[in-house]
Amino acid sequence: MLPHSDAQDARAVSTCAWCHREIYAGSEVKRIDDSAEFVHAGFREDCAEKYAAERVYDRSGIIDENGDVI
Ligand SMILES: [Zn+2]
Repeated sequence: MLPHSDAQDARAVSTCAWCHREIYAGSEVKRIDDSAEFVHAGFREDCAEKYAAERVYDRSGIIDENGDVI
């Protein structure tokens, strides 16, 4: 048999709404308010930040004198 990690031994309880990888029991997560889905939020996992940024912001850059983001 192949060796396996602790992560693979843990039970997957959900799937991340951002990266679509499994979320295991014991993982740090954030729950999304309007869908009750979960995203990874642990150390070195930025799924929560990326998911939130995509949902909240539609432009990113420098605003000009007309209020346009360029
Ligand atoms: Zn994720």
